Amino acid sequence: MVQPDGGPVPRPTVGYVALGGTIASVPAEGPGVQPTLAARDLAAGVPGLEAAAVLETHTFRTIPSSAITLRDLVELVPLLEAVVARGAVGVVVSQGTDTIEEAAFVLDLLWDRPEPLVVTGAMRNPSLAGADGPANLLASVQVAAEPDARDCGVLVCLNDEIHAARFVHKSHTSSPSTFHSPGLGPIGWVAEGRPVIAFRPTRRAHVELDWSAPLPRVPIVTIGLDADPALLEAARDLECDGIVIEGMGGGHVPAGLLPAVADLLERIPVVLTSRTGSGEVLATTYGYPGGEIDLLDRGVIRAGALDSLKARLLLMLAVASGHDRLATRELFALVGTTTGPVAKA
Ligand code: ASP
Repeated sequence: MVQPDGGPVPRPTVGYVALGGTIASVPAEGPGVQPTLAARDLAAGVPGLEAAAVLETHTFRTIPSSAITLRDLVELVPLLEAVVARGAVGVVVSQGTDTIEEAAFVLDLLWDRPEPLVVTGAMRNPSLAGADGPANLLASVQVAAEPDARDCGVLVCLNDEIHAARFVHKSHTSSPSTFHSPGLGPIGWVAEGRPVIAFRPTRRAHVELDWSAPLPRVPIVTIGLDADPALLEAARDLECDGIVIEGMGGGHVPAGLLPAVADLLERIPVVLTSRTGSGEVLATTYGYPGGEIDLLDRGVIRAGALDSLKARLLLMLAVASGHDRLATRELFALVGTTTGPVAKA
């Protein structure tokens, strides 16, 4: 590329931090593939990457994404901040796709900088025909260097689509087009190497962590037809710090669970999500016992449009940063993009 005066256009610096996952997995000792490749190996030889940016590479972990912990993500943020402080215009993180929707969501809550932070991975490892890692890495670097992608929070870029971390969901076990944002779609795309941000996410939230205590224990309990209260009762005995109840439809449970819910509410925050997978938890429609009006009136916190995996992480971060019930409720209203009444304080 040349400037109007004929000189070369300076390439932006982009940070690239690798955490393992399929994108980094090759045959090793024993069966199957294992995440072993470092960031520098992953970037080497990707067509077009050198022209797109100067990379500052770091290998932070070489693990499957099922092994990533909340503490790993909290420790990752200062490294990413240092990379942008040194002059990178944005940062790319690659990791396993199994937990991208969760890791990107946590990073979104911890990342309050304007620079794009783009999370990517691959569905086909480098030893397979049609491996998608190189294309995903290149597109993500292009998004990270894109001025329009600033102030969008954390983005997830695979398959030439750009998703907001708050809404993205892995929806298929093996398809390269596994990532979707239910009810919303991607906020942009990459075509011919040009990233396009078509919609900008609103209402970014930042969580200041004051975390010295042990990891908060927050289970998710999915409510099925004719569910008995045993699991909710067991949650009380497990000394949980909070619980996510994944209710039916707009956020409903059988009335027989209400004593167990009331008992939990006396001890810990209880967050209500929907097992449907998209749409908001309702607030003002169903008035029967165990309906959302009843549950919210009892003090259950509405997760808004957040699914259970994300609601669990938000509740863990809220507990870890010392939020009381009211602050937790406000945080869910903000991050869950809730409209309408927030219900009981
Ligand atoms: N199947 C996963 C991936 O796509 C493995 C992992 O999440 O580490 O990367």
